[in-house]
Parts: sequence; C-alpha cells; structure tokens
Amino acid sequence: MKSVPQTQNLDSKNDSKDRNSLFSEISNLYSEYYKYAIKRKWLEIPTDLPHREIGFGITKKVDNRNICFENNIDYLKWVLKNSPLHLYKSLSYMEHPENMGGANQKKLFRREIAFDIDTHKTEKCKHEENWLCEHCLEEAKNQTLILIDEYLIPFFGFSKNDLKIVFSGNRGYHIYIDPKNEQIKEEIEHWGKNERRYFIEFILGKNLSLNHMGSAWKTILTNQFKKNKFPIKSFKNSNNWDKELNKSTREKSKPLLLDIINKTKNRLELDEKVMDDDIRLLRTVGSLHGFTGFMVKEIKYDTLSNGFFEPLSDAVFSEFSKTYYDIRINTAIDEVTIKNEQYTKESKEVPASLLLFLYGHGVNFEILKKH
Ligand SMILES: [Zn+2]
Repeated sequence: MKSVPQTQNLDSKNDSKDRNSLFSEISNLYSEYYKYAIKRKWLEIPTDLPHREIGFGITKKVDNRNICFENNIDYLKWVLKNSPLHLYKSLSYMEHPENMGGANQKKLFRREIAFDIDTHKTEKCKHEENWLCEHCLEEAKNQTLILIDEYLIPFFGFSKNDLKIVFSGNRGYHIYIDPKNEQIKEEIEHWGKNERRYFIEFILGKNLSLNHMGSAWKTILTNQFKKNKFPIKSFKNSNNWDKELNKSTREKSKPLLLDIINKTKNRLELDEKVMDDDIRLLRTVGSLHGFTGFMVKEIKYDTLSNGFFEPLSDAVFSEFSKTYYDIRINTAIDEVTIKNEQYTKESKEVPASLLLFLYGHGVNFEILKKH
C-alpha cells in the first residue's frame, strides 16, 4: 500500500520539475524578447510615467498592480528583470498611482481615451472558445474598421491620424484617440466618467429611441437599410421611425428592418470598462500577450484597411521563428496556424512561437529537446 503514494509523490515531483523547467524556458523567451524590444524602442514608455500605474502578470493575467516608477530607466530595468507575460499601464494619470484602492485614493487628474474591441469566436470558427483562428482575427479587424470608418471619423471629426490602433496580441484591437490638435487632446483627456460613458453609449446606440431619431443614427441605420436593399427615402425624411415602421405597408419588412437595427447596435464587441473604468489598465504597446506570445503591436490605419496586417504572421517576434524544439503534446488541441505553418496535437518539431502559444493556453505538453 505504501508504494502507491510514494510513486505518486515521485511523479508529482517530476511533474513539478518539468513544469519548472518549462516555465524557465518560457521566461527566457520573454526575457530575450524584452531585451530586443527595449533596444529597438518598441516598448511603450507611458507618457508622464511617474503618474501612471503599472501592472503585470506572470502566474496569471494580473499578479500585481499599484506599481510606479520615477524614471524611464528604472522602469525599463524592471521590465527586463521581470520580463512579465502580461504588462499593463493605467489609462489614467494619477497623483498617487501607488495607492491601493479606487480613483479617490489614487487622485486621478487625466485619462487617455481608448476603445477595446475583443471579439468572440465567429460562426466560421471551428475551435474552442479560448482558441483563435484567422476568422475571429478577421472579425476583430473588421469591427475595428467599422468603429473608425463608420463612427469615429464621420461623427466625431477625428481623422485617421488622430487614432492609434494597436493589435491586442489576442482576438482584438485597442483604438486610442490621440488627437493631433493639442486643444482637443487636452479637452478629451479631461473628460470625466459621464462624458466617456456618453461617448461609448452613442456608439453602441444605447440611447437610441426610434420615435426621436437623431441625424447620426439615421445615417448609420439608413446606410444599413440601403446595403440590404430597402428603400430609405421615408426613413431619411422622418424623425419618428416608430410611426414609419408601423405603417400598414411595412407589415412584411418591419421585422427585417428591426433585425437590422438590432444587429447594427450590437455589431461591435466593445469592452465598456476600458472606456468607463477610472482605474482601468490596458496592455502596454510593444509588450507580449501572455496567452499567445504575440506582440501587442501598433498598426497604421492604411496597413490594416488594405489587409496587409496578418496577426498570425506579423505579430510574431521574428526570433521566435528561429529557435526550434522537439515537443510532445499530451492533450487534444485545436489546430493553429502561425507564420503559415499549421500545428496540431501531432506536431513534434515546433518553433518558440508555438511553445509560447501552447504555454499561454495552458496546454499540457513537454519539451523533449531544444535544437
Ligand atoms: Zn476563430
């Protein structure tokens, strides 16, 4: 009877040894990346660093926050030393970023404005909820372009140069409003919670009332009606769409039109907290995303809209395609394509980029040999 627990002990010791050596390999890769990224100035140093809160995750998404740095050198040294799997900065500027607690303890005085588009899997996706593929990444890109082209540019007067677009490293994008006009920048970065809520609620059509249609949402929705080949003249001429929709001639089209309205309001998967929450942290540009090992990467609007950005290739750190490992994957996994190579449970010889992806997704695997 005694031999059973002993064997188990031995196994679990070996398991934890394996896990430790795997973790140390992963840490080395993150550290290799940060050395490179800092040298190349890829890593964002948040503006007015002493007033920003820094957070990080190594064992989970966020291990610690309320960290702050007096100067850039200390910050960069700290990043190099810890090479975290997840790295964040506060959107807010604060008198006391190091204080625990909420906005009152930290004394906010300014805040960056950013949207976070975080898509779920699409109908075309064949994978589990936490995995990704080119289809959900395409959806994330499309939603980003809708937000910019159909809301931010036409209705708020921003130009594409006033926006900073960042691939989140997973299934999403962060869209920062960074107006070139200093006066406008000053103004929006001093918005309070109510103004920020108003901004995002407008985009999500939350205050839309069909019997009092405003001109912006009239335009947004008639464009959709037109795309679906419905006549739009009477909708353009009326502010009371309730009345329009309930006309006896619309008995058939009414449910279809209501469906278009509903879908249009819900087509953007925006994380409202990123706009709303006073003390929200957002991934640092130029860091790696711990779930995928992909770079949190700034993308020019034209590159995105021309379809020249392919996250599964372009967000992979090039050095991670050069180191190879022999591995054994012990559980079923969905397929994943990185740099045009498809990987499955049967894959035996894989690059560092796949190692990071598997580790980040909690896949049970072992390294047999590093090449
Ligand atoms: Zn997918």
